[in-house]
Amino acid sequence: MDEGYIKFDAIWVKTDPFGENDLAQLNTFRQKVFELKLIGAYDNGIGYGNISQRQLPTKNPFYISGSATGNLSELLPTHYALVKDVRIDENQLFCEGPIVASSESMSHAVIYQTLPEVQAVIHVHHLNMWKSLLHSVPTTSQSATYGTPEMAYSIIDLLQSTHLPKTKLFVMEGHEEGVFVFGNSLAEAYAILLEAYLSFST
Ligand SMILES: [Zn+2]
Repeated sequence: MDEGYIKFDAIWVKTDPFGENDLAQLNTFRQKVFELKLIGAYDNGIGYGNISQRQLPTKNPFYISGSATGNLSELLPTHYALVKDVRIDENQLFCEGPIVASSESMSHAVIYQTLPEVQAVIHVHHLNMWKSLLHSVPTTSQSATYGTPEMAYSIIDLLQSTHLPKTKLFVMEGHEEGVFVFGNSLAEAYAILLEAYLSFST
């Protein structure tokens, strides 16, 4: 399965965990999404889904759930990383924390870089939602697989050429089950996700 491993060159500085207070809101919403099984694990144990929030409202660094944490029923501060910068052309990602950042971090990063007002991004997996939304909402190119520079560029293209900055929901044709939402707050991103989930999950 093409899932769960890091494709970028991670320049990772291992540090102590970040403060529980800094991660509290992010972890609360991560738990809600996990309980819907939109973040979770496949039968083979490979985890899917990730969630992030800007560290400071006007700066690009963002906290994100760590690599291979989708399968965990509860996350602790030891499970979150801070992404400081990305260089898409070089396929490099600079992060800090007790764990390396999620394999999908580059896709989160380009949303924060392109839309300064966005504060939170959530990536989930759901087969029916994905099928229902494919090409009825902005859709990344079929050849772009998860966690690659090509995916990052495909997302930037959607942000610049479609109504996506307003609708804040897209699917990834080259990453089966993959859906992304974002918002000007975690609550907004979650509300958009929940509405889509309730419409397509049955
Ligand atoms: Zn995924």
